[in-house]
Amino acid sequence: MIRLSSIGRIAMALATGVWVAGTVRAAQVTHVVQMSLDGLGAKYLQAYVSNAPAQFPNFVRLVKEGACTFNARCDYDISETVPNHASMLTARPVMQPNGTAATTHHGYSNNFPGATDTFHNAGNANVPYKFSVFDMTHDYGLSTALYTGKTRLAICERSYDAANGALDLVGADNGRDKIDAAAVADVSGAAISNEVNTLLQDLTGATPKRYSFIHIAEPDLTGHSANWGSASWSNMVRTVDAQLGRILNAIDTSAVLSNQTALIITADHGGGGVTRNAHTESYHITNYTIPFFVRAPGIQGGSDLYALLGNRGNPGTNRTDYTTQPQPIRDGDACNLALLLLGLPPITGSFMSPTLASSTVALSVARHEDRVGFFWVDATGQYQLEAADALASPMQWQAISNGVQTTESTRIYTVTNLTEFSRQFYRLRKP
Ligand SMILES: [Zn+2]
Repeated sequence: MIRLSSIGRIAMALATGVWVAGTVRAAQVTHVVQMSLDGLGAKYLQAYVSNAPAQFPNFVRLVKEGACTFNARCDYDISETVPNHASMLTARPVMQPNGTAATTHHGYSNNFPGATDTFHNAGNANVPYKFSVFDMTHDYGLSTALYTGKTRLAICERSYDAANGALDLVGADNGRDKIDAAAVADVSGAAISNEVNTLLQDLTGATPKRYSFIHIAEPDLTGHSANWGSASWSNMVRTVDAQLGRILNAIDTSAVLSNQTALIITADHGGGGVTRNAHTESYHITNYTIPFFVRAPGIQGGSDLYALLGNRGNPGTNRTDYTTQPQPIRDGDACNLALLLLGLPPITGSFMSPTLASSTVALSVARHEDRVGFFWVDATGQYQLEAADALASPMQWQAISNGVQTTESTRIYTVTNLTEFSRQFYRLRKP
């Protein structure tokens, strides 16, 4: 990927007609570490952080050093691990929301995947291939890693491996395998430090993966064995807190990562809502309420994540289905937020796409080999993307309508012909 300022032939115009050489960003980063803390319900965590901050110093750090909310949501229909991880990777709901197209959801509702299941062959048959954050990062030339603490989540790796990942049709063929390094195992209790070791081994090296996703199976396992909110459970959250501290320190002490890495942390569901050792009832506030932390350069510490995002609204105590506006922040927002901070377009075909609060509409550009993605935030479709032959005189602007995809508030147009791209000027115009 190259940034707009280094693309010679592109002119970019704001809707007002002012020419600019870059996009407006609250933060732009080179690396993302995304974490899913299994079963970490926000109702309990928020109480711990506010009542016993000294016991949870690294969650306190996340609150102080980044933007956060203790009132995010998991999927509306299903508050279980595998379906929610499918949502986290694809930014699609599990089930088809009322009034949306049959191609909206990923459709993988099984929490115990069969050995050959993928999100493609066993999910929503109307979407034969579900693009993921790994497709976007890999296809734009970024290195990727996935670490999971449950072997059941091998489906996340298998769906995007050398056999099942999509063909790389852009630029050099980097193969179908979208995930460069993967480690899948059952990891519980204090052994989660071993899983974090694997991540840190990469993060502390000379060329850390540009996008890493790590799933920690605790505190879900202890929730099932000893009840959410019990002393054993809060002790396990402290164990997770300590691992979080190791990751924060690894980022902050790395010359490569420090000040240019986003850490995004959320959970796949809460727990202990109806019965203290379970979380399947998706209608219960303790099960559907999850935390969401974002720490990245340029993001004001101690801020409310709902204030940072332009198209999300705090749902109060509501469970909130997918058609109510504004949408709450969800675990399914995490990947497209990662891509946004990396300067990349949202996942192809995805449904959930958070935007940064900003009054300016600007055209963003990301390039890898002969793939160029243009994207801009325009919830109501007021702006028109136009192109003109750069060598023609006088210049003749032509509207681009075919091929413009919409992911919630964000419009995306992808050029896969570098010759075409290099001969054109592009602009956004409000007709
Ligand atoms: Zn569970």
